[in-house]
Amino acid sequence: MRIDVLGVGFDDLTASEAASAAVCHFSGGAAAPAYAVTPNPEIVWLARKNSALRDAISGAALVLPDGIGIVYGARILGTPLKERVPGIDFAAALLASLAERGGGVYLLGAKPGVAETAGDKLRETYPGLVIAGTRDGYFEDDAAVIAEINAKAPDLLLVCLGAPKQELWIAKNIAGLAVGLAIGLGGALDVWAGTVKRAPERWRRLGLEWLYRLLREPRRIGRMMSLPKFLFAVIWRRIRG
Ligand code: UDP
Repeated sequence: MRIDVLGVGFDDLTASEAASAAVCHFSGGAAAPAYAVTPNPEIVWLARKNSALRDAISGAALVLPDGIGIVYGARILGTPLKERVPGIDFAAALLASLAERGGGVYLLGAKPGVAETAGDKLRETYPGLVIAGTRDGYFEDDAAVIAEINAKAPDLLLVCLGAPKQELWIAKNIAGLAVGLAIGLGGALDVWAGTVKRAPERWRRLGLEWLYRLLREPRRIGRMMSLPKFLFAVIWRRIRG
C-alpha cells in the first residue's frame, strides 16, 4: 500500500530498503523492465492537473520521496513516511552495487558532453562499473535512442531530462527498453559531471537543499513557488479531514 500525498502514492521505504528493492530488477532479477521515480513537491503539484504524469508515476515499480517537503507533507497528513530518499543518493547506492558485480549503466540526458564527463567521474568513483553508453538529452528521434540503448542492454538506465519530461518519456517507452531498471533523475548528471554543485552535507541534513539550490539558481523561483502551494494544500486537506 502506497502512502498518498495529494494524489501521488509513495512507497514507504528507507533508502537501503529502496536500494534492495531496486537491485532485484537488474539482469537475472525481474523479467520485465521496470522504472523508479523520485517526485518532489513540485512534481506532486504538477501531477494534480496532469493525468498522464499521474499515470506515469503510479506505473513505476518504486515511487520514492525526493524532497523534504514530501516527508513533511506525509507527516502533516498523519501518514508519515520513513525517510526522504533523494534520487541522486538512491542512484549512487545502485551504482555501487552494480560496480561490485561488473554491471552496466547507460547515462541519458543533460547538455552535450555532460553525460560523458559524468561517466568518467563515476568510473573513477565506482571501479568495476561499466558505463554502457552515454547520450545527451536533446534528441528528436526516440526510436534511434532506444535502439542505441537496447544494443547495450544495460542493467540500469538513468534518464536525466528534467521533470516531468523524463517521467513521461520513461513511462511511454519502458516496454520497449531492454534494461533492468530505468530511473528519472533530473539534474544528477550535471552534479556528477561537476557542472552543478549540490548543497553541502550540513544543508542537506537540515532539509535545506531546496534553499541552497534557489540561492545558486534564483531563476528557479517560479518553479519553486509550487512548494508553498503544496504545503498549504496539505495543511488544508488535513484540516478538512
Ligand atoms: N534536459 C535534457 N533535455 C531536455 C530538457 C532538459 O537533457 O529536453 C536536462 C538539462 O540539461 C538538465 C536536466 O535535464 O541536465 C534538468 O535538470 P534539473 O535540475 O532542472 O532537473 P529537475 O529539477 O527538473 O528534476
